[in-house]
Amino acid sequence: MSRLNIEAELNGPQLEAVSALEGPVLIIAGAGSGKTRVIAYRIAYMLEKGIPQSAILALTFTNKAAREMESRVRELSGKKLQSLTVSTFHSFGVRILREEIEKLGYRKNFSIYDETDRNQLIRDSLRECRLSVDGVDLYKLGQIFSNVKIGRLRWGEGADSGFERVYGEYQNGLKVYNALDFDDLLVLPIQLFEEHPEIRGKYRTRYRYIMVDEFQDTSLIQYRLMRLLAEADSPGGNCNICVVGDDDQSIYSWRGANYENILMFERDFPGVREIKLEQNYRSTTTILEAANGVISNNTNRKGKTLWSGNTGGKPIELFHPQTESDEADFIARRIRELCLRERRNYDDFGVLIRTNSMTRAIEEAFLAENLPYQVSGGTSFFQRKEIKDILSYLRVIGNADDDVNLLRIINTPRRGIGKTMISVITDLARKNHSSLWDAMGRLRYAPDTLFPDAAKGRAEIDHFMNLIEFYRNEILGSQNRKGWHLSQQVRSLTDNIDYWSYLMSEYSKNEKIAHWKFLNIESLIRSIETWESNPDNLNPTLYPYLNRISLITSGDGPDEGPDEGARGKVNLMTIHAAKGLEFPVVFIAGAEDGIIPHARSLEEGDGNIEEERRLFYVAITRARDKLFITSCLRRRRAQFQKQAGDEPVADSRLSPFLAEIPGHLVEYHEPEKALDAAEAEDFFARIKSQFA
Ligand code: ATP
Ligand code: MG
Repeated sequence: MSRLNIEAELNGPQLEAVSALEGPVLIIAGAGSGKTRVIAYRIAYMLEKGIPQSAILALTFTNKAAREMESRVRELSGKKLQSLTVSTFHSFGVRILREEIEKLGYRKNFSIYDETDRNQLIRDSLRECRLSVDGVDLYKLGQIFSNVKIGRLRWGEGADSGFERVYGEYQNGLKVYNALDFDDLLVLPIQLFEEHPEIRGKYRTRYRYIMVDEFQDTSLIQYRLMRLLAEADSPGGNCNICVVGDDDQSIYSWRGANYENILMFERDFPGVREIKLEQNYRSTTTILEAANGVISNNTNRKGKTLWSGNTGGKPIELFHPQTESDEADFIARRIRELCLRERRNYDDFGVLIRTNSMTRAIEEAFLAENLPYQVSGGTSFFQRKEIKDILSYLRVIGNADDDVNLLRIINTPRRGIGKTMISVITDLARKNHSSLWDAMGRLRYAPDTLFPDAAKGRAEIDHFMNLIEFYRNEILGSQNRKGWHLSQQVRSLTDNIDYWSYLMSEYSKNEKIAHWKFLNIESLIRSIETWESNPDNLNPTLYPYLNRISLITSGDGPDEGPDEGARGKVNLMTIHAAKGLEFPVVFIAGAEDGIIPHARSLEEGDGNIEEERRLFYVAITRARDKLFITSCLRRRRAQFQKQAGDEPVADSRLSPFLAEIPGHLVEYHEPEKALDAAEAEDFFARIKSQFA
């Protein structure tokens, strides 16, 4: 018996959107109007109609959203999902490349470089070209490379041709290391489809029903990939594509072009059926009115109506802690209080921040208050050194030719393979056009006289190679005699390299940090356990795990902490990572000028103020019942303004967006600690002027 009852669970326009399976459909609608719900129901409806899972492709913005979508569909359809594809564009790219990449001259076990690996390779490429690394902004250079790769800039036209050679070296490096950067995950599938019509044909025949959520943030390159799959071959051909989005929530705008992709869609898919959804089911009218008040200040938008049947609601509360640590304490205490008073669960709370650097103070307050929490969307977990180290071991075990990861662990924990030895290896690799691992293999068995510089560290090289080979056999080979799972192997590896002693020696002055880092590794192992014991995970082995990790840690979008799926944790995340999510209670921290709107965006011109406003709109619209906003009186500035002469701690001004929230919706709270008279006067003058 089907559980699906679309007539009862959807409103009129939603029903229309769910049942319009044939032809192109475009839904541009406001926050919380059920766009994502429509996609989940559409898929369930297709399954009910007998459309095979394998013919359906749903593209989401984050891995977390993809998993949520899957579980929603599973619930709605009551079916086991075996060949349904719900993934991000990047994961979808990986899926295609794992099948087909040999046609482009790479090997199938390619590594995926995250930003840290990529910066390392850019650094090496600069050195290769005898250019100094000092003073080069690797982030900016990375952006240039990325823009060239995706065809947005050309050398000499927007991209400084002084770096063309470095780019060549960089590309070469990727090929030699059999590694891809994030852009490759989209660019190479496009290249495949364009150069090999038979491959394109194969995927087009397979995916006959395509859906894209958060379409407003689909980049041009993602759009091209989507179009290659979805576009009709001939007039009247098959293009069953449905995209949903909200121009007001576009927060990764591509050079100011806000809803250009929406216009392109209308042009490229003639006969598109446009459906409007106007009822917001998520938030109280208080929250919705606040959000509407803010976003109506943007000029560059497709205006639309959005109303909520959930009338009234508690006021939005605005607090003014003294400093960021008071702010963090306030949030932690308030969450604790609401859990007791209103019997809320920890996972009812979303704490939203503008930048990653704001997590630290809040994490510390949560730890002090003993609040379980998870950080998503950012560098928080997987960028931690201890986690990267362990993952580098796994990456090298998966692909020993991955030089970047090899270099990270070759002497971590220290095992006496010093710089001299590493440069002998590097030279040898360069001479032979081989990977470092290959070069090490040569050194390992060569007579001492051949490489006199390397004579000393040979035993250590041998030892290291034995270690990697041992685990490769254990994890990948048929020699997994104990029948161990990946998580067990990782635990054994961590013991084997004695990472604990390494941490103790690195942090001999602060055992607490060593302990904390070790606990992080424990959570990593636990997260692998959770992943491998998921009954829907049909292949809980090393390569799928590494793919997944690379995508989670990508700059492509929001990440997740290790305990995803874990219930009962406060959600701490950047606003970017919160897109599409909802929480009964939301805290927006740091609603200050220079944070939101971000100081960097202000330097970049007017278009960016609108984007920052959209970001603030996204933040407000995540809340269902209750919204708290905090704006500190002072804040440590270092991360936000690096101007000479700036005080490390400076007075903050309220975010100008706060004044755009209709005053009657907000309850103001005076600062908790007593201010001296002058401070108080100054403070109220500031408030008054901003809420005139
Ligand atoms: P966003 O723009 O933030 O991504 P959205 O348009 O995708 O929002 P959803 O997340 O799909 O909106 O829906 C918001 C909330 O409203 C969800 O909890 C969803 O289940 C609920 N909802 C949407 N439509 C209905 C409906 N017809 N009946 C009951 N609940 C609904
Ligand atoms: Mg959504």
